[in-house]
Amino acid sequence: MFERIIRTGRQRISQKEIKASLTEKIIATDSAADALAKESLAPYNAYSGEGEVTGALVYVNQGVPEDYEVLERRGVDVKGKIVLARYGGSWRGIKAKVAAEKGALGCIIFNDPLEDGYAQGAAYPAGAYKHDTAVQRGSVVDLPMRPGDPLTPGYGATKDAKRLPREQAETIMKIPVLPISSADAEPLLKAMDSPVAPTEWRGALPLTYRLGGGQAVVRLKAEFHWNLVPTYNVIARMKGSQFPDQWVLRGNHHDAWVIGARDPISALAPLLEQARAFSELAKNGWRPKRTVLFCVWDGEEPGLLGSTEWAEHHADELRRKAVAYVNTDGNSRGILGIGGSHSMETLAGEVAQVVPDPQTGVSVSERMRSASLVRGSAEEKKEYLTRKNIHIEALGSGSDFSVFLQHLGIASYYIGFRGEGRGGEYHTCFDTFDHYAKYGDPDFSYGVALAKVCGRITLRLADADILPFNFNAQAQTFNRCGERRESRVILTI
Ligand SMILES: [Zn+2]
Repeated sequence: MFERIIRTGRQRISQKEIKASLTEKIIATDSAADALAKESLAPYNAYSGEGEVTGALVYVNQGVPEDYEVLERRGVDVKGKIVLARYGGSWRGIKAKVAAEKGALGCIIFNDPLEDGYAQGAAYPAGAYKHDTAVQRGSVVDLPMRPGDPLTPGYGATKDAKRLPREQAETIMKIPVLPISSADAEPLLKAMDSPVAPTEWRGALPLTYRLGGGQAVVRLKAEFHWNLVPTYNVIARMKGSQFPDQWVLRGNHHDAWVIGARDPISALAPLLEQARAFSELAKNGWRPKRTVLFCVWDGEEPGLLGSTEWAEHHADELRRKAVAYVNTDGNSRGILGIGGSHSMETLAGEVAQVVPDPQTGVSVSERMRSASLVRGSAEEKKEYLTRKNIHIEALGSGSDFSVFLQHLGIASYYIGFRGEGRGGEYHTCFDTFDHYAKYGDPDFSYGVALAKVCGRITLRLADADILPFNFNAQAQTFNRCGERRESRVILTI
């Protein structure tokens, strides 16, 4: 159902030719070092375009539309050139998409130490942050257009499904895209001889950041195998005793970019613990009133493949039977974050009031409220002082809830603790157990708290006589959005 993995990259700089290393240093003291040495692949972007391109190099800051406006004002055009963008400010797929729309031939994305490297703290293993060869992998599939297998838009990628020829797949990026480390980006940035970049474009590398478009020329080559390979979802079903045709779904993905201790295992382990608790209840004679499905998805990282294809294949049945979908995807110490359908805002608040925060002992709801009072806008602070319940965020895309919420219209949650686990390990070789156990959630108590929050929510949804939806909360949210003209979209995989 998806792709490939062969990449080479070369940069030719004026008279000197430099070849990028495109490899991440493996930390020998990490207990995953042997596995990483044997099994990890070179960093790449899933669903990048393929090909070999040569062009002048232009630095585009974070590669968002406003950055191109700055370039245009300074007379720099990226048409026929290769852009170099730093991570941050937007989801990486947007950087590649905007670059292609502006006529760039290729897009290179690098991790500037300003974002999650030495400017933030010591590099792993001395600290939690990126060392100079660390690279953030990730998908550049056109997620705003559609998640799932680009070859089977809107229907399940079953064995015999009709597949589009790759050239007709709308969501595969049109230009080659390559993620590189700050160590590989440094000589590229140094080779530029063009005007100095604006202050806010400058990162933390020890050099003068320039706009590019001068003498520095890059050759970028991306090659992949496009073999069709299966993805493996695991679906466990506990049949409901009273309403077997009403389904409550609880899901998390199991695929990872490399080892994936935090993304996704730190939230998959609580899902499995929740399933084990349900099986203990069942051994004592309990049966949920509604059918509960535990779903462990494959292929989330390349483009929400497992969940989207499964839900597309079962769309008719899900439209008739699915009551709610509860998604998690990664967890760490910190404050409870809940995004989702506001018809379930009241339920989220009730559950958050009874689960204790492991660090402070107050409820996770109380801790959320305190955080909002400290960090929120003046308006949010005022509202939290008068309001008992928590707010949940609206969801964009970026995890397996997408197909359920946005395509099938099923009430959904996306839940996780975040904010206090430190690190730059996301989608790198050092998202390992050792890193997570030191910097993510050292005593795993927030993993337990996540299992408690999701377990209670699933139990309430499965066992309530009347489904615990509150459409007043939903209407109030719409009113609030209308008043404030506010919209927020979260997009990351
Ligand atoms: Zn994930």
